[in-house]
Amino acid sequence: MEIKFLSTKSIESNKDIGKSSYDSAKRMWKDVKVDYITAKHIGFTCVDKLYGTTHSVIYFSERKFPESWNCDCRWHTIKEKFCKHILAVFLRLNNDDNFLKTIKKTPL
Ligand SMILES: [Zn+2]
Repeated sequence: MEIKFLSTKSIESNKDIGKSSYDSAKRMWKDVKVDYITAKHIGFTCVDKLYGTTHSVIYFSERKFPESWNCDCRWHTIKEKFCKHILAVFLRLNNDDNFLKTIKKTPL
């Protein structure tokens, strides 16, 4: 499996990503955990300690980017854009070389 995600540079230059979502992701990325890894999917848990919320982010390697990323939060469901939880997973992938060490990582 190969995991494709946005590089920090791409996040910062993407006009569809609001500053508040990005700021929240910067606050949360250290609290992102891997739930499970299957042949095609990776499940993550993203905890927002400030608001006491937990959301599940799933990466579907068989789908094309950006549809490969899904979150169960209401914002993502309505806007169909990257929410702060998905951005937090992206930041973890960008900032922590030991995260998902066995999987091929491709920043876009
Ligand atoms: Zn979300």
